[in-house]
Amino acid sequence: MSAMLANTRTRSDEATAVVETPRPERKRIIIIGGGFAGIAAAHALRHADAEVVLIDRRNHHIFQPLLYQVATAILSPAEIAAPIRQLEAKRRNVSVLLAEVTAVDVASRTIEAASPGAGVHKIAFDYLVVATGMRPNYFGHDEFARYAPGLKSLADAEMIRAKILGAFELAATTEDENERARQMTFVLVGAGPSGVELAGSLAHLVKVTLRGNFHRIDPSKSAIILLDAGNRVLPTFAEPLSRRVTRRLTKLGVKVMTGVKVDTVDDQGVVAGGKRVSSATVLWTAGVAASPIPKMLGTKTDRAGRALVDPFLKVVDAPGVFVVGDAASVIQNEHPVPGVAQAAIQEGQYVGRLIASELKGRKVKRPFRYFDKGNMAVVGKNYAVLERGRLHTGGFLTYLVWAFVHILALPQLQNRLRVQRQWLSSYFTGQRSSRLIPETNEPGH
Ligand SMILES: Cc1cc2nc3c(=O)[nH]c(=O)nc-3n(C[C@H](O)[C@H](O)[C@H](O)COP(=O)(O)OP(=O)(O)OC[C@H]3O[C@@H](n4cnc5c(N)ncnc54)[C@H](O)[C@@H]3O)c2cc1C
Repeated sequence: MSAMLANTRTRSDEATAVVETPRPERKRIIIIGGGFAGIAAAHALRHADAEVVLIDRRNHHIFQPLLYQVATAILSPAEIAAPIRQLEAKRRNVSVLLAEVTAVDVASRTIEAASPGAGVHKIAFDYLVVATGMRPNYFGHDEFARYAPGLKSLADAEMIRAKILGAFELAATTEDENERARQMTFVLVGAGPSGVELAGSLAHLVKVTLRGNFHRIDPSKSAIILLDAGNRVLPTFAEPLSRRVTRRLTKLGVKVMTGVKVDTVDDQGVVAGGKRVSSATVLWTAGVAASPIPKMLGTKTDRAGRALVDPFLKVVDAPGVFVVGDAASVIQNEHPVPGVAQAAIQEGQYVGRLIASELKGRKVKRPFRYFDKGNMAVVGKNYAVLERGRLHTGGFLTYLVWAFVHILALPQLQNRLRVQRQWLSSYFTGQRSSRLIPETNEPGH
């Protein structure tokens, strides 16, 4: 069960009896997951004559592209998240359920959802939309997770922030030179967009934000190492952009090491390419794997556990069952549709509209088409890269476009206003507003 639900568990949760939810008079559409795809599907179904049940194990939707900014103390968690209930409040046919879906039975057309304090509910569906996203993938080494957290939730981001800030506190107090160096060495495993963005932001934190805050140590002397087993950073971008990003990161003081496989992660750091790197903060930004839900559909999955769907995003041989967003493996023009927010939104919208049409007795003949609006990544302050079709560009203007696009895409007006204010303040002062170490994460605990 997720941390959010585990935290709200009460004595009455002990009851494990499965309670059956009565069937409604109208058709029932269950959406599992309130991420980009699930929210888009619910939005597209807002006028449908059906009962829509949106289930998530968290009570909030997260704008994941800015999670790295929470992890590096630029933003606080509430600025990039919104309560799912609030997002759906105006949609009269949509009800929200805080629960973790633990079973799906395609044959009996039911799911089981465990809610805090309310036990397990068995809910029948006419349509099912699976939008459960991905989780970090340690490629068969789940034991690494203990020492190298991934970045997927607000709790992960806060824990990483506490780890980074705590490392400087410990470096400033220890008398042991080797331990000080270990505390001031940060290793990021995986040089995709998350790893690159995290490394760039960390470099700015140590060079600018923490400048002058410690008398016994100089945070700008920290080592930030970005490792990847592949032969270049940002492998989904064109090679020239990749090279530009490597140069930029190097200029910011990040040591980029590609073609290096991580053999071990433990409490002392990592062993990579046969060499030990002592580090108190190892972060996992490498791979992702699908949640267990697609496997429960009894359909074929790809190597990462994503459900293979047909061109209408339907699960073959399971009428009325769809998979969207990161949890779906969608092939278009012989290439996989990327696991990005835009694709998840478009897929959610498409399936929502398709179901709404079917409810009206119309058959949808046009398969899903992904429209690629471009790929962006930010590298430290003032610099971003963009790839859109043949356009490959990078620099300050691209950074402004990135900032504008991200502000507009945030879920609520209050997120947009708050993020804008924080960015402006940190842009002009170099300071970051969210530099608190939560008490439970204090160094030594
Ligand atoms: C750190 C990071 C940075 C990223 N940066 C970018 C970027 O810059 N640009 C970009 O386009 N994309 C980016 N992405 C990718 C993008 O966020 C994903 O492609 C997108 O979130 C996928 O949307 P989704 O709805 O499929 O899944 P998600 O947004 O992950 O949502 C899945 C939801 O399902 C819920 N869920 C899962 N299992 C269950 C269950 N059993 N029961 C109940 N609820 C469940 C989860 O709680 C979650 O709310 C980034 C991702 C990460 C992690």
